[in-house]
Amino acid sequence: MSQGILVIIEHGNSKINRISLEALTGAQKLAAETGQPVFAAVLAEDCSAMTKILSSKKVDKIYAVASPQLADYTPDGYTIALAQLIEKIDPTYVVVGHSYQARDYAAKLALRCGGAMMSDCIAMKSDGGALVLTRQVFAGKFNADYTFESDGPCFISLQAAAYNADALESGSGAVEDFAVEIDTADIRTTVLESFEGTKKDVDLAASDIILAIGRGLKEEDNLEMAEELASALGADIGASRPVCDDGWVGVDRQVGSSGQTVSPKLYLSLGISGAIQHVVGMKGSKYIVAINKDPHAPIFDIADVAVVGDLFEIVPKLTEAVKAAK
Ligand SMILES: Cc1cc2nc3c(=O)[nH]c(=O)nc-3n(C[C@H](O)[C@H](O)[C@H](O)COP(=O)(O)OP(=O)(O)OC[C@H]3O[C@@H](n4cnc5c(N)ncnc54)[C@H](O)[C@@H]3O)c2cc1C
Repeated sequence: MSQGILVIIEHGNSKINRISLEALTGAQKLAAETGQPVFAAVLAEDCSAMTKILSSKKVDKIYAVASPQLADYTPDGYTIALAQLIEKIDPTYVVVGHSYQARDYAAKLALRCGGAMMSDCIAMKSDGGALVLTRQVFAGKFNADYTFESDGPCFISLQAAAYNADALESGSGAVEDFAVEIDTADIRTTVLESFEGTKKDVDLAASDIILAIGRGLKEEDNLEMAEELASALGADIGASRPVCDDGWVGVDRQVGSSGQTVSPKLYLSLGISGAIQHVVGMKGSKYIVAINKDPHAPIFDIADVAVVGDLFEIVPKLTEAVKAAK
């Protein structure tokens, strides 16, 4: 009989991606409700850096799936290796972070394993033994609960910030090597040289502090004022869509339904109204401070601290205060 929640760990440069730690937190919470064991799988040429980190977490078993064919991510390599692991451990649920990588292989893997997949979920819970998954619909205006039936394992991808990586429980996980057989001829992708984005690019999903600017900033020349505050706070600049559309900042800074989903420790917004398409991308932030001159701005509905006032008066003073506090 199938048993267990398997979390597939994504990594880069021997570092575990935060979205996978969030997925692991979700798996721990589901395990607490269902009594199922939690497993983690790391795929790489050398898994040791990642398994070392995971072995200090509350995980029942960590599978190190090491192979030269897994040195680089390929959808075929991951699907072949994970299908073999899943056949062996027969988990009830397979959980991944809803990353670009997972979007690339997870549905194919679910099909290969005879399972079903529910993507981009924001919560998992057990209701009388049945798994209930929550997804956002209508651009985040409503949440809908789903259950699904499948003879094979249930695959679930979790949206960034659905669970809090800081809440990951510590413990001691045993590491077990799992040998896979991968025929190089079955990997149809050739990985070329990897490269990083330009220095200007930013990964807001990994930011601890985001200073987000909106149309209330009025014009591009005022960006400097926001950048000064961002630099004092050690924050990355994020933005609403109109600001990106106008080219004040790159599209990699856009937060929202057609931009990034972020979960920083502090999200400070300047002159952002809080349209649903923006909020859906940042409401998972741990602490939200919003500055807006309109006391009825919707952003205040989700803000921990609502500052009603003119940002052009507040921001220079705030920057001075932050610098002085340092
Ligand atoms: C399909 C679709 C996808 C979308 N995707 C996204 C997305 O990913 N991200 C996103 O952000 N939007 C997205 N949008 C756009 C979204 O609907 C809003 O139009 C947008 O978020 C508004 O940006 P804003 O808050 O900067 O501007 P506005 O709505 O114009 O708000 C400006 C705010 O600034 C305040 N303000 C003005 N002057 C001052 C001042 N001096 N001091 C303080 N406050 C001031 C105003 O009170 C106002 O609340 C999408 C829309 C659609 C239809």
